[in-house]
Amino acid sequence: MTILNVLKFANAVKSAHKPSHTQIEKFSSYVKYAEHKALEKIRNIGISAHIDSGKTTLTERILFYTGRIDSMHEVKGKDNVGAVMDSMELERQRGITIQSAATYTIWKDHNINIIDTPGHVDFTVEVERALRVLDGAVLVLCAVGGVQSQTLTVNRQMKRYNVPCLAFINKLDRLGANPDRVLKQLRSKMNHNAAFLHLPIGLEKDCQGILELIEERAVYFDGDFGEKVRYDEVPKDRRAEVQERRHELIEHLSNVDETLGELFLEEKTPTVADIKKAVRSTALKRTFTPVLLGTALKNRGVQPLLDAVLEYLPHPGQVENTAIINEANGEGETIILDPARDGKKPFVGLAFKLEVSKFGQLTYLRCYQGMLKRGDNIFNARTGKKVKISRLVRMHSSNMEEVSEVFAGDIFALFGVDCASGDTFVNDGKLELSMESIHVPDPVVSMAIRPKNSKDRDNFSKAVARFTKEDPTFQFRYDGDNKETIVSGMGELHLEIYAQRMEREYNCPVELGKPKVAFRETMMSPCSFDYLHKKQSGGAGQFARVSGIMEPLPPHQNTMLEFVDETVGTNIPKQFVPGVERGFLDTCQKGYLTGHKISGVKFRLQDGAHHIVDSSELAFFLAAKGAVKDVFEEGAWQVLEPIMYVEVTMPEEFHGTVIGQLNKRGGIITGNEGSEGWTTVYAEVPLNNMFGYAGELRSVTQGKGEFSMEYSRYSPCLPDVQEQLIRKYQEEMGILPDKKKNKN
Ligand code: GDP
Repeated sequence: MTILNVLKFANAVKSAHKPSHTQIEKFSSYVKYAEHKALEKIRNIGISAHIDSGKTTLTERILFYTGRIDSMHEVKGKDNVGAVMDSMELERQRGITIQSAATYTIWKDHNINIIDTPGHVDFTVEVERALRVLDGAVLVLCAVGGVQSQTLTVNRQMKRYNVPCLAFINKLDRLGANPDRVLKQLRSKMNHNAAFLHLPIGLEKDCQGILELIEERAVYFDGDFGEKVRYDEVPKDRRAEVQERRHELIEHLSNVDETLGELFLEEKTPTVADIKKAVRSTALKRTFTPVLLGTALKNRGVQPLLDAVLEYLPHPGQVENTAIINEANGEGETIILDPARDGKKPFVGLAFKLEVSKFGQLTYLRCYQGMLKRGDNIFNARTGKKVKISRLVRMHSSNMEEVSEVFAGDIFALFGVDCASGDTFVNDGKLELSMESIHVPDPVVSMAIRPKNSKDRDNFSKAVARFTKEDPTFQFRYDGDNKETIVSGMGELHLEIYAQRMEREYNCPVELGKPKVAFRETMMSPCSFDYLHKKQSGGAGQFARVSGIMEPLPPHQNTMLEFVDETVGTNIPKQFVPGVERGFLDTCQKGYLTGHKISGVKFRLQDGAHHIVDSSELAFFLAAKGAVKDVFEEGAWQVLEPIMYVEVTMPEEFHGTVIGQLNKRGGIITGNEGSEGWTTVYAEVPLNNMFGYAGELRSVTQGKGEFSMEYSRYSPCLPDVQEQLIRKYQEEMGILPDKKKNKN
């Protein structure tokens, strides 16, 4: 409990003589928080959804009911305070949450850490990072919109990280709300073995509460803010329906839970405890998805959702987390981290989010093993750097609370730690251990960017420095030939959002160019080089000779570059080798075929020559550049393009049309799935062919089709695309055609 809270509480006691019930509850919850919590009393959860499903509103209600905030504000409401979780101006304006803020709260003596995951497809790195540190998630769906494109993306990510989830169908109060349809979509569009745990008591404007199927009772939410939960009997006219849907729930569970399955076959009635146990164990295995109902805006169903989080989502001890030991020495060994909160094992933590807040630079970490106290030293396992922990804090949206220690399972933040997100921290400098690094896709779209006013250059640089540090998929480079600054990222919106943040947060309005697909250039076969750089025009001369082989890396490494120094002896003095490497990397920034980055190439420096007086690092830098140019002239090169995983879901009758369209866009269909009148098509399509797809899909499926897209890999593009790119580049550069033949 912070001193401030003690004072606040004391003041309340003084002024009112008798503290209110909520004040007492709040006070005791702070005290409890300071206690050492058992593993079973911790939940690390995320809330994921398609934009506008009500994730922010729901989070805010959760914080309100759990006593963390005193009042509620509507997102996009008239008051300009905005929802507490949306701490950024832009988010407030758009009503979407971009940054994943971690906040904690307490419900029924359990600590709940909520990692607010961003909703848009272009921010997948943040979603994935958040999902890594979660033990469970709530998937929010709109009762009208149902399963939407982003729901499909989030669903796929949850599958990838094996995150158990609950579905919450929100907005029961909206005109056209139809939770039955959403449940069907969960089953048909996303292949979940899902069933209701709740039924609504009235829909749209008549929405009064919910019926709990397991307990067979009605739940109402009284008081101005629905804060008083009242249980009652199921109304007479709904009893048959409750029985029927309860039976449906048991049936779905019986299919995947052995114990319940046996009872079902023997026609025995399972107890409430039996059913809950089955829901818990199947949700944990992701073989069943419990579906809950409510409306966050109208304050219905939020407390039962919180109860379900405690009841059915796993605690940190139920989720296995691993780390790799001694990876640097080749094959690393995978070890299982010990979630026990006794602090006996060495500390292992993962930095999953960097944020510049009003308090300064914050790094969010999750502790996976051991414990950490204020004053301890920890080491960044990647860089070996030591960090002294002077302050440990927990964040509640934009407020901060100091703590003296944290244990396995806790989420916390540190000040002023210099690291990248995804870095592992340990408290033993000799422990060469890292949590598997987060899957970070390569940026696939780029745009030219420039500040509208040249006076804003400083702010522009500051903004770029911060954003590129926070988000590894947001990259920045200067293109010296066209004299433009290029940003690249995971999609158009991704880059647009950063442009807007530059204006809002850094007072630096910017102009963006047209989006361009980030093609790459690579070699098709090995090619040797022997290049002499020599210049003697008065003054100090320049002399450097490099020879070796440039060769393609295997396809799975075609976005990387590798430099190896295989020289023996002193023909190239060691101090000049870095110059060669820099020359190689620098030239790869812009290929000669189409002007795109070179990647998937290994530069093997094998020999060379130097001059006692005239050699310098610069001379070797230029020699390496000359060598790459030679190899370009001599070798066979090709263009690579980003290929996307595309998932399209639509009513069955449009199946043929959708496949036809994907084929026309150069897509390769990789799979098909369908049930209950809906079909999902999986395909791989070049990103370059995906512009305008959303509109096309909408028009041929009467607005019913949804799709999501995710980066898969780089692959050689078709010869005609390559030809076009080369021709366009030659025109731009004023190069005569055929000067360099395309050897594909
Ligand atoms: P997010 O984008 O998923 O974070 O969604 P928000 O919480 O920003 O909500 C989007 C919009 O839906 C806002 O205008 C909310 O007021 C509204 N909203 C949220 N929950 C409900 C609900 O239960 N019912 C209705 N009718 N509107 C809601």
